[in-house]
Amino acid sequence: RKTQRIDKILAHLGHGSRSEIKRMVKQRCITVNGIVLKDSGLHVDPFNDHIEVNGERIVYKEFIYLMLHKPQGVVSATEDKREATVLDLLDTEDVVFEPFPVGRLDKDTEGLLLLTNDGKFAHNLLSPRKHVPKTYEARVDGDVGEEDIAKFAAGVTLDDGYETLPGELHVLSQEQDGDTIISIISLTIHEGKFHQVKRMFEAVGKKVIYLKRVQMGQVILDPNLEIGTYRELTSEELSLLG
Ligand code: URA
Repeated sequence: RKTQRIDKILAHLGHGSRSEIKRMVKQRCITVNGIVLKDSGLHVDPFNDHIEVNGERIVYKEFIYLMLHKPQGVVSATEDKREATVLDLLDTEDVVFEPFPVGRLDKDTEGLLLLTNDGKFAHNLLSPRKHVPKTYEARVDGDVGEEDIAKFAAGVTLDDGYETLPGELHVLSQEQDGDTIISIISLTIHEGKFHQVKRMFEAVGKKVIYLKRVQMGQVILDPNLEIGTYRELTSEELSLLG
């Protein structure tokens, strides 16, 4: 069994800095297996020792896995000098785990963004060799039709010469606005090049005017998650991605 300093464990879980925890120890706020803690450097087993802070049991976890319904206008980074980041949308009790986004969505893209502090998990999902499918819904300026579907199915050539893998394009509906047609589509791709969806449509002469990611692997954006809100992944969702 692995033990760790209790002040480190409590700091990791967001109960304050090491010195704040020292003060709580002085104030006799912390117990381990029913005994008042005297030494904030005591080594304990975070999974099996019974730790209480102010009478409340501490539930330990090392990793956090979040599903965020990303809004437009925030960047998929952990810090930015000018812009709001996706971390600004999280509660501090989750930020203490130092989660980072698993891949990126453009500032003006909405939808499913996973965040975690589990580097292996993120690496696995992003590994180009795994080809984890990602499904997007978009509004596209123009009449997306059979020809585009066939081109996407064959793979298109992006502006930098890159040939994409086949993508599954479906036209969900169309709207007419004067003499312009807006196509509402879904597109599943199996890789994640920079601005890939927008550039695939550029390759067929059309412009994405709204973009939302709705699925990654087998995990679907929870329809009950309002824009800008998040929740932890369920254990079922985690096992679908692992
Ligand atoms: N493709 C894009 O063009 N933008 C995104 O944010 C995601 C995929």
